[in-house]
Amino acid sequence: MVTLTVSRFAPSPTGLLHLGNARTAFFSWLYARHRGGRFVLRIEDTDASRSRPEHVEALLADMAWLGLDFDAGPGKDTPEGPYWQSQRAGIYEQAFNQLQAMGRAYPCYCTALELELARKMQLSRGQAPRYAGTCRDLTLDQRAAREAEGRQGALRFQVPGGRELRYQDLVRGEQVFSSDALGDFIIQRADGSASFLASNAIDDALMGVTDVLRGEDHVANTPRQLLLLEVLEHRLPRYGHLPLLVGDDGAPLAKRHGATSVSELRGLGYRPEAVLNLLFRLGHSAAVEGWATNAGMIEGFRPEHLGRAPARLDMAQLTHWQKEAVKLAHADQLADWVPATVPADDKAAFIAAVRANLTLPADAKAMADMIYEDLPPLTPELEAIVRAAGAATFEAAVLALDSGADWSGLTRSVREATGRKGRDLFQPLRAALTHALEGPEMAPLLALMGPLRARARFEQALTACQ
Ligand code: GLU
Ligand code: ZN
Repeated sequence: MVTLTVSRFAPSPTGLLHLGNARTAFFSWLYARHRGGRFVLRIEDTDASRSRPEHVEALLADMAWLGLDFDAGPGKDTPEGPYWQSQRAGIYEQAFNQLQAMGRAYPCYCTALELELARKMQLSRGQAPRYAGTCRDLTLDQRAAREAEGRQGALRFQVPGGRELRYQDLVRGEQVFSSDALGDFIIQRADGSASFLASNAIDDALMGVTDVLRGEDHVANTPRQLLLLEVLEHRLPRYGHLPLLVGDDGAPLAKRHGATSVSELRGLGYRPEAVLNLLFRLGHSAAVEGWATNAGMIEGFRPEHLGRAPARLDMAQLTHWQKEAVKLAHADQLADWVPATVPADDKAAFIAAVRANLTLPADAKAMADMIYEDLPPLTPELEAIVRAAGAATFEAAVLALDSGADWSGLTRSVREATGRKGRDLFQPLRAALTHALEGPEMAPLLALMGPLRARARFEQALTACQ
């Protein structure tokens, strides 16, 4: 029987969606889409003190903006839901009862202080710290005595000794652990809530998740979760651990690396397809060269091409993909970028004229200012170019405008009047009309400027020639 691939993204809503997590979500989404499977979104909001509903809202908005649609999740319930861990306490409780009845879990009454002391002791003996098993063999009377003291028990999973655990990591290859190194771990906290190790593994199993892609920070959790699922007789998912995303200097991503949350990037005007093209190549040696559409990325995704080395985020790459995205965007996707100073009838022509020079909406504003607003004074360099061209150039240009010439007619007239050609012809005209040496093509710019503005700018140049 062929099992349907089910992958998932399971964020803890404790903050903004950063590029690192967005990459995990994207690769998980690609994983499912490439195999024609299902993609599940699960909100891991068991940490009530750090989870915030507004973070879930923002996360859903970011996912929607990126186009990472899910088949089951918040607002898309199925019988395997709910997809909020905070609403699944009863489900975990059942598993905990089962484990206790099987004798595979036991209450632990150790205080934080006692655990810390035991930890220090182990470290001082040069041992790796792990739960010492203090409460493993308490008799019923001993348990009752501790409860009578008012101690709240946490529930620990009893890890079998002497087992060699192996699994095939989708990214890291074969992983081998000894169960002796693990120590009995908490599955239910003293306050009754399920621990991450338990809720995360149980949910993956009950939601039919076949393939888990997640951050490398969870590598050490996997053998524990595999043991737990094995005892609960669940089918084991495959796990793949993605290396950390780091800045171009190799250090963990931080503020100084620039805008790294999805919502910040969206606010700055980055296109979602640019962000996805960036993420697609972070730690994934994609066989797709150049710009890729979503369909192309789904097709070209290869989990076996996920690398083990930390993935470096280079913001220059984002700029590169953003420029590509702007080139390919529909005009209506750029409509918001057009400042109000551009007359409504000119909007489409404006986008067509300046598109090749845009990276972010701020550039559209600069282009609109250049066309429709008063220009800043000529810099000395530009003034020198204008003066070198001389008054004859601009007198001919004004005459051409007055006779209704467009850019090609205007340049022809100036060439005939002055004998200038090539760069000597175009550079001073561009300098006079835009107060810049580079920019969009002049013909559509002149059309947008209109003869009155252009005339005033040539007159200014004439003044500069005196
Ligand atoms: N809530 C966990 C996290 O955000 C999920 C880990 C996992 O994907 O298994 O780190
Ligand atoms: Zn204990």
